[in-house]
This record gives sequence, C-alpha cells and structure tokens, in this order.
Amino acid sequence: MAACIFCKIIRGEIPSMKIFESEKTLAFLDIGPLSRGHSLVIPKYHGAKLHDVPDDQLSEVLSVARKIAIAQGLEDYNILQNNGRIAHQVVDHVHFHVIPKPNESEGLGIGWPTK
Ligand code: C5P
Repeated sequence: MAACIFCKIIRGEIPSMKIFESEKTLAFLDIGPLSRGHSLVIPKYHGAKLHDVPDDQLSEVLSVARKIAIAQGLEDYNILQNNGRIAHQVVDHVHFHVIPKPNESEGLGIGWPTK
C-alpha cells in the first residue's frame, strides 16, 4: 500500500534497523522502544488488522517473534498485537511487538506495559 509507513519500510523507502527478513516477513527494531531491544515483526502482506491478513501470510510471524526472544536471551517479555484505535493500534499494518521485560534492577524498562 503506497502510503503505509510499514510498506515503505518493506520497500526500503524508509530506513529501519532490520533484524530478520524473508519472502513473507520482516522484523526490525521499534523506533520508539518501550524497553531496550523492542522489535516489531510484520507480514509483508498489507493488512490493517489481523483479520485482514490471510493465514498463509502470517505463518512465520510468531515463529520469528519466538526466535527473536530466544536470540535476545529473554526470559520475560511481551508479545503484543493491537487491532484498532481503542486497542491502541497506531500503524494500520499488522505488527507484533516483541517487548523485552528486563529486571527492575537492570533499569532498562522505559514504558508500558509495566507487568
Ligand atoms: O501497535 P501500535 O500501532 O500502537 O504500534 C506501532 C509501533 O510502530 C510503535 O511502537 C511505533 O514506535 C512503531 N513505529 C516504528 N517505526 C515507524 C513508525 C512507528 O517502529 N516508522
């Protein structure tokens, strides 16, 4: 979709810190991280909400999110996926957040969700 910011990232028209890329899936660091290492995993297929994206275009997304968590050595983390404004969706291209939850003593948590 021409105006979609994540489609622009997929096409390389906007820079991103890529973590993973395949034919169907892209993962990159969130530009406004809620904690250090916060990333987004997206299907390359453009759909605003989860129900807009066919199953086969989502087949890798959770696996990639899982592998990012493993690669980051995370024990505590959130996988978050918002649909619609009331549910706090800002970018209308399906995305899964991988949000590390560091120990409070590490002092790296910088935002919601807190628990
Ligand atoms: O789930 P929601 O739509 O609220 O989250 C969108 C996320 O996309 C935000 O965490 C925001 O920081 C991120 N973003 C980004 N790069 C952009 C625009 C938004 O990482 N160019």
